[in-house]
Amino acid sequence: MHRNIRRLLVVGAHGDDETLGAGGTIARLADEGAVVSLCILTNDDGSRSATGAGVTDRTAAIELAAKTLGVERVRISEFGDNRLDTVSHLELNRVVEREVRDFEPDTILTTSMCDLSTDHALVSRAARVAGRPGKGSVQEVRTFEIRSATDVGEASGLPVAFRPNCWQRLDETHLDRKLEALRAYGKELEPWPNPRSERGVRALAEYRGSQISAGLAEAFEIVRVVH
Ligand SMILES: [Zn+2]
Repeated sequence: MHRNIRRLLVVGAHGDDETLGAGGTIARLADEGAVVSLCILTNDDGSRSATGAGVTDRTAAIELAAKTLGVERVRISEFGDNRLDTVSHLELNRVVEREVRDFEPDTILTTSMCDLSTDHALVSRAARVAGRPGKGSVQEVRTFEIRSATDVGEASGLPVAFRPNCWQRLDETHLDRKLEALRAYGKELEPWPNPRSERGVRALAEYRGSQISAGLAEAFEIVRVVH
């Protein structure tokens, strides 16, 4: 089914969401000719360390990661990190709706409502609003999982859980690009056994791959698809 994706919009709260959640898939689809646009809603360092080696600010880190993955178009909003709950739904929805109107994606990938991060849940809602049925070009909306956000949400008694029903097979080269993109975010890569270590990221890809008898994969939950 992924071969039908021609215009992919990835919507995240923070620079690194796209890479942690769907970096391998973005690399694969870009290789296969899809045009990929990235929309990140926050851009400050309110609660996180800024950047990786050779990158001077968060914007540069996002752009470097995007380039590594094959993303052609990057849009970064300036809302505050961990403060999206202070932004009106109307304002948040408008930003993502504008991206959908301008870029005309057939598919949206976004964060999960199941994440403990309030920013992630709010962005997921805004992406669903922008991609709702009967509005524009969007035929499919999927959510992705982010280690130490989605799994922590599940382990914290939230009433919803991430239930993958879609797997994207990856080759080693796609995982390599995901890890290289993560390095743009530098200090957020932790040593093993942290879930956001390189080995932790590989372990999840191997686990998701083994669920479908493939070497490596990323898992998604399809919100809506029109064939
Ligand atoms: Zn995030």
